[in-house]
Amino acid sequence: MSIEKLNPFFATTYENFPKGRTIGLVVLRTSLSELILRTEGTGEPMCREFVQAGQIDKQVVQRLVMTKRKQIAPERRTGREHLRAQDLLRLNKDGVACALNTNAPCEMCVDCFLYGFAAGGGGAQKSRIWTEDAFSILGATDTISDRTINAIFETGTMRDEKGNASTALNTSEYIKPGVHFLDVMTLKDVTADEFRYVIGNVLLTSRYGAVSSRVGRMENQILGIFGGIAELSSSLELVQAVHDRFNADNEPLEHPLDDGKLIAATQAVISNWTNRRGISLQLSNEELNTVIADVDRHWSDTEREAFLKRLDTSYEPFRQVSEKKGKGKRKETIEAGN
Ligand SMILES: [Zn+2]
Repeated sequence: MSIEKLNPFFATTYENFPKGRTIGLVVLRTSLSELILRTEGTGEPMCREFVQAGQIDKQVVQRLVMTKRKQIAPERRTGREHLRAQDLLRLNKDGVACALNTNAPCEMCVDCFLYGFAAGGGGAQKSRIWTEDAFSILGATDTISDRTINAIFETGTMRDEKGNASTALNTSEYIKPGVHFLDVMTLKDVTADEFRYVIGNVLLTSRYGAVSSRVGRMENQILGIFGGIAELSSSLELVQAVHDRFNADNEPLEHPLDDGKLIAATQAVISNWTNRRGISLQLSNEELNTVIADVDRHWSDTEREAFLKRLDTSYEPFRQVSEKKGKGKRKETIEAGN
């Protein structure tokens, strides 16, 4: 009993046309340091959205939002670092190494085949990794804090001789450590090795949003793996159902939220998802742990190189060999954005 249990939902090989095999993941993302998830650029407020608190509790709350892009871009970069280390990022038609967020992807590397690309020249590959915005369990008022930097007087304090407080120089907003986001991901027609690659990217990525040595640390945990022919409930529906569950159990919904209680409530909510139309399998906790161990083994120092090279080779029949690539000098362009 291991990853084979998911075989009916895996593609045996990469194909150009979709066949409806769908694997759903429930991911818990927890901030471990101050976290900054702004829309774009500095000065913008933290991403948040007014939504209904629960499905039963209909009051409107403002939740933090972790956008698709804020999730996927760092995870793709994690995988691409290792592809680069094995020299598996290919050159595009201009002889430049494949880079994220440019309109000249190589269209041939693992990342391009799996996460897709829109090429300037008209070619396109649809992503087979579908995400949606993830929502915080608790509202923005509980989970955001302000840091105000005050001017210091010569006395070394923030009061002058007359006892007047100094004026604030700067205020910056951040998401507190210990804030939980629940996320639903969908993998469409992926092979077993592609699945291992994507899960590895999720579990190995530890920095999101605005990143410095001090901010942006997050931890991801996979709480559920499903197989079927349809998508799971949305991230928002999941967060709302967990909210209702806390209320039903008379558990307080306040920061800091206990990890164990949150995981238990989430697992209780998702345990009946196999009753949903198009969802036929949920891995048990033991099976899930076996799958994660399998993924860890493939990403280990002893197996990673062989694993990534095998995955890369799997696309060989689909690579167009119209132009000779892979010779010239590799020029790395900077990957922009988050
Ligand atoms: Zn590429």
